[in-house]
Amino acid sequence: MEHQEYQELLVLHSLDALDGPEARSLEEHLHACPECRDELTQLRDAAGLLAHAATPAEPRPEVRQRIMAAIAAERQPARVTAARVAPLQPRPKRNLWTIGLRLAAAIASIALLVGIIVLWRRDVKMRQEIAQLSRQVNTQGHELVRDRDVLGRQREALALLNSPNAKKMELAGTQTAQSARGTFVYDQKTGRAILMADGLPATPTDKAYELWFIPKGHSPMAGKMFTIDASGHAMLPEQMPPEAMESAVIAITLEPKKGSAVPTGAIYLSSPSS
Ligand SMILES: [Zn+2]
Repeated sequence: MEHQEYQELLVLHSLDALDGPEARSLEEHLHACPECRDELTQLRDAAGLLAHAATPAEPRPEVRQRIMAAIAAERQPARVTAARVAPLQPRPKRNLWTIGLRLAAAIASIALLVGIIVLWRRDVKMRQEIAQLSRQVNTQGHELVRDRDVLGRQREALALLNSPNAKKMELAGTQTAQSARGTFVYDQKTGRAILMADGLPATPTDKAYELWFIPKGHSPMAGKMFTIDASGHAMLPEQMPPEAMESAVIAITLEPKKGSAVPTGAIYLSSPSS
C-alpha cells in the first residue's frame, strides 16, 4: 500500500473501526510516516471532542441521502465518459473502501459540526447563568452594605445618646410642616452630632433638605444635605462647627438639590430660638 491509501484508512483507524491485517499494516506505516501520525492525532482529537457532545451526533437522514446521491452521481458519468473517449488514462480506482471512507469522513465532519454547536450552545447557556448569579450576588452585597450602614448609624446614635457629654435639642415643625418632629443630639466635647427627623414631607426630585447652624449673632452656617426615606424618617450624622458649640439654633429648610450657601427656602423644622 502507498502513503495515499494509508491516509484514507486513518479516519477509520481514529474511530477504532479497523482491524486485521489492514490495522497492522497501517501501524507499521505510522512508525515510518510522521505526516500520517500527525493526521491521526488530529482525527483522534476530533473524535474525542465528539465524545463530549450531549446529543447523539448522527446526521439527519436527508443529509445522509444527499451524500449518497452525490457519490452515486460522481460514479455514473465516469462510466459514460470512459465509454465515449477511448484510450484515456485509467481513472484512479474507486473501490467500495474509498467510497465508504469518504462517507465516513463526511459523516464524521457533520457529526463534528453538530458536536461543536452543542458545546457552543451549552457554553452560552452556562455564561448566562453565571452572569445572572453574579448579578444576584451583587444585589445582595449592596443590600448588606446598606443594612450595615443603617445599623452603624443607629449604633452611633445610641452611643451619642448615652454619652455623659450629650446635649439633646428638640426640633418642632413650623407652619410649613406641622406634623414634623426632630431631635438633634451632639457631644459637647467632640461636636459629633446626629439628627433624627420624622414626618417631613416627601421631597421633590430636584430638592433636598439642608441643615443649618445659626449661632448667636452669626449668619446661618450650612450643614449637610439629606433626603427622607419612604416613611418620612431621616437619620443624619453631623459635625457641629466650633462656632455653634456654645449655643445655636438648628433649622432645616428645603433647598435645590445641589445645596445653598445661604437658606433660600422655607423653614420646616427648627429648635427653639433662645
Ligand atoms: Zn503516510
